[in-house]
Parts: sequence; structure tokens; C-alpha cells
Amino acid sequence: FAPWDDPAAKPIIQFKNVTKRFGEFTAIDNLTLDIYPQEFFALLGPSGCGKTTLMRMLGGFESPTEGQILLDGVDIGPVPPNERPVNMMFQSYALFPHLSVWDNIAFGLKRSNMPKDQIGDRVEKMLKLTQLGKFAKRKPHQISGGQRQRVALARSLAKAPKLLLLDEPLGALDKKLRNETQFELMDIQETTGTTFVIVTHDQEEAMTVASRVAIMVDGSLAQVSTPDQIYEAPNSTYVADFIGDVNLIEGKAAAAKGGMDVHWGDHQPPIHITTDKPLPAGAHCHFAIRPEKVSISATTPKAANVVKGTILDIAYLGNISTYHVEIASGVIFKAQTTNSKRLSRRTFTWEDEVYLSWTDTAGVVLSE
Ligand code: ATP
Repeated sequence: FAPWDDPAAKPIIQFKNVTKRFGEFTAIDNLTLDIYPQEFFALLGPSGCGKTTLMRMLGGFESPTEGQILLDGVDIGPVPPNERPVNMMFQSYALFPHLSVWDNIAFGLKRSNMPKDQIGDRVEKMLKLTQLGKFAKRKPHQISGGQRQRVALARSLAKAPKLLLLDEPLGALDKKLRNETQFELMDIQETTGTTFVIVTHDQEEAMTVASRVAIMVDGSLAQVSTPDQIYEAPNSTYVADFIGDVNLIEGKAAAAKGGMDVHWGDHQPPIHITTDKPLPAGAHCHFAIRPEKVSISATTPKAANVVKGTILDIAYLGNISTYHVEIASGVIFKAQTTNSKRLSRRTFTWEDEVYLSWTDTAGVVLSE
């Protein structure tokens, strides 16, 4: 499933050079983006970057100052929110406290004058989909937070929208329930085939549920890609730093056989990278590598890249340990080890002199 790589695939949503201004302030800046049918698309970014504004424009609650938004190839600019085949589920769920689960789910269907027997069928289908059959007669205060979240989802999907917008849908759940619910959400999305667009602050959540993730910054897209590409091949230090943990070293590019070198520090060996897209010699750049790709050892290892350092800090997290190692004055590198064999292996302690090493393909070089 990768319609974004298929030139013949038709997007369900197209943002075409969309700009949204509130007075002098530009919340969305000339943004162009395609989302494909059946995608689970995540919008991720720091507070104020424009995620909600983008969603609200899809829902029809805001209109672009410039540019167009197309749904199935048709400009939806003039279509009012209630006539769009789009539904929005808010973090607060906004369930009616005096109505049963059944009636909450049926509410929107009744308002659209759907025949009674059809409403019954649809509600039963939604109850089954969200595994709420047992709770149909209960009121919202008689079910758990996770169940309420599923009622809200069932209600949003009842009208079979083409597109469901989810604004921090799991924000009210605790971490464990949140993780379980992420998988339920993915199952439901797959079963219904509805295109989901989710706004979340939680990068783990975006990485778990999404087919693709858009990282936003200041009203623009920093990178749009699959979760593994965002993690493994970030296109900027901003994205590398925003997702997960990363070590960054500033340096200068130099030509090298099979790839390039990054020169950094005063007396450090250059970092060697195998790549078919080396930066021009002399270019200012950053080398970025994830902590779990950095090995730590007590004796000189055989590897393409080796630096010496001193352990400053150790964070033991159960399954993994993260070592903070000073590799040059003021330059701290993180190295992560998995603890599956921890008891039988030599571990390190504060102020140990160690070697950090990594292969020539373990990191990326970024020009911005
Ligand atoms: P958060 O994660 O905090 O919800 P967000 O990425 O969803 O943030 P938006 O709500 O889209 O951000 O807001 C983007 C920017 O536009 C913010 O700086 C916000 O202050 C501004 N903004 C949003 N709505 C309005 C409005 N109606 N009038 C003026 N400014 C607005």
C-alpha cells in the first residue's frame, strides 16, 4: 500500500498552494499536499505550527485565504461543512450525557432523515465494529474513558464519511489504554477503508498508526513520508531532532571514496559515510545518527568510525540503557544498548573511558 509512489494513483485530498492568514499572521504558508484514499495520515508538529488550521479547512470550518482544497478532484471551497463527506472527531468527544450509547451513535443519522430501519442497521454495524454491543443501553457516564472514545468514533463513522478527521482523539486516555486504542483505531480504519487524517502531539502515536506522517513547522511541511523514512532518512536537522533521539555533529563536507567525509572538531578523525549523494566539498553540514546505531566498547573496535569519550551519565530504562558520552569538549553523544543480556555482559560506569563506533551507513548527512 503506497499510492503516493504510484503516478497513476488519484489523491482523495489535494491542498494546492493553500495559504491561510489570520489578519497579518500567516498560519498556513503556500502549502501543497496530496492525501490518498484509505490512508491513515498524521499531522505532527509543535504547538502553533498550523495542524488544527489545516484540519479545520478540510472540515470547512475555515476557508483558505489563497489556494484550493480539492476532494476527489473537486474544489470544496464553496461546500459548507455539513454538506462535505467529511466528519470531525474532537478530543472532547462531546457525547450527549443524557442519551444512551445507541442514541449517541444514531444522533447524526436521525438528523439526516435516514429511514428508521436503516438507522438501526447502521448503529448495530457501528456497535459491532467498535465492540460496544454490550454497552448500547448505557449512558456515557456509565462507561469507561476508552469506551467513550469508541462511542465518539462509532458516531463519527456512522454516516460513512469519505474522510474522518481526528483531532487528538486519544488525548484523554492514559498511556496504556492509549496504546491499545491505537491498534483498535488502525483495525477500524482498515475495516472501513475510510481515509483518516489525525492531528497529534504524540510522535510515537503518529509513527504507530500512520501510513504517512507530515511534519509541520511554521505553517509549512518540513517532511512528508512514511514513518520509517522520517526516522531513518530525515531531510533536515529539524525533522531528525523532532522525531526520536538523535546525535548531531556540525562539520564540513569533504570528498571521499564511495561517499563523503565530515570533518569536525580539532583533532578528530573525519566521519566517513557511504552515500551516492555526497554533499559538495566544503559544504557546511550536520552528521546525524540515532543513539541505537552507536556501539559502545571498552577496547578499540574495528569499525568505519570510532571516537573516544568519557561516560558522563547513564540512563537505565529497563529494556535499554542510554549512555551520555563526552567525545570532545562540550560534545555529548548518546549510545544505546539493549539490555537483553545485561547480566552476563560487562556494563559501564560513570567516568569510564570508552570507544563509540558506528558503520559507514548508520547515519545521514544533512545540509540544513
Ligand atoms: P496546537 O498543537 O497547539 O493545537 P496547532 O499546530 O494546531 O497547535 P493551530 O491551531 O493551527 O496550531 O494554529 C496555528 C497558528 O494560527 C497559531 O499561531 C494560532 O495562534 C493561529 N491561529 C489559529 N486560529 C486563529 C484565529 N482564529 N485567529 C488568529 N490566529 C489564529
